[in-house]
Amino acid sequence: MKKWFAVIGNPISHSLSPNMHDAWLKQLNIDASYIPIHVEQNHLKQAVESLKLLGCSGWNVTVPFKEAIIPLLDEVDDSAKGIGAVNTVVKTGDNKYVGYNTDGLGFIESLGYILPEHNILMIGAGGAARGIAHAFERLGFTNLSIANRTLEKAIVLVDELQTGQALTLEEAENDLNKFDIIVQTTPLGMKSSEASLPIQLNRIKENAIVADIVYNPLVTPFLEEAKKYNVRTINGLGMLVHQGALAFSYWNGLKPDTDGMIQQLIEQIGGNYVNR
Ligand code: NAP
Repeated sequence: MKKWFAVIGNPISHSLSPNMHDAWLKQLNIDASYIPIHVEQNHLKQAVESLKLLGCSGWNVTVPFKEAIIPLLDEVDDSAKGIGAVNTVVKTGDNKYVGYNTDGLGFIESLGYILPEHNILMIGAGGAARGIAHAFERLGFTNLSIANRTLEKAIVLVDELQTGQALTLEEAENDLNKFDIIVQTTPLGMKSSEASLPIQLNRIKENAIVADIVYNPLVTPFLEEAKKYNVRTINGLGMLVHQGALAFSYWNGLKPDTDGMIQQLIEQIGGNYVNR
């Protein structure tokens, strides 16, 4: 049977994943397709049963189903267990459907070369931050500080990780010169939200790396502010492409071209890519 893949979510029409995966399938001469599927909030169980019944070869899961899908799968990989969220489902040789999470690892790959001893500050403790924090911990990056508007949520995440420290946004701002890598994971700076900064950057360390996981706009107000200090900035497009590339490699056993895809998506989204 011809392979086919999907992405399920609600809403789904805005997703860049179908274009990305279709292009990679074509580039690598894989005779398969990738389709977006809009799933109604209370129809997840039926949707997953249908995907299994129709022999879907694997699918991505996006908001709001990343947590709710877990009990509907046959197995969940360690990459998704700790986080409690799945973004990729893989069909195994014995027809089992296994859940993975490639978001955090995808983000870390988008940073390029970094060292385990680097001091990392994450701003935000929501769903995306959880995935990234767990991936850092799994890869042995234990110098992790998590600052969040609601401190309790950062404390819960640090307790879960059994490493790092929780900070208020004010504490993060005051101690900013201690951090080599700063990761902005709140939706602040997205087109639809007001253009304010979660923390001020005036105490930033020389040679720090500043990443924002938001990719629309490509240059968020946070990255714009960081550029004033001449530090390296990384936008959220790399995370999107690298999490997709990992899913693609789990499904097809081949690593697709991430750099070319980032360029293609910049052309599609418009604006300047700031990752170099
Ligand atoms: P989420 O679970 O709703 O978490 C939002 C986080 O942002 C929370 O920590 C929240 O703090 C904080 N926050 C929200 N508004 C704030 C404000 N005005 N000031 C300070 N902190 C604020 O959201 P998510 O799923 O983690 O997604 C976050 C962003 O990441 C979204 O913009 C999403 O598009 C983006 N994202 C990008 C990728 C990618 O591939 N590049 C992947 C996933 C997500 P409280 O706890 O205090 O509410």
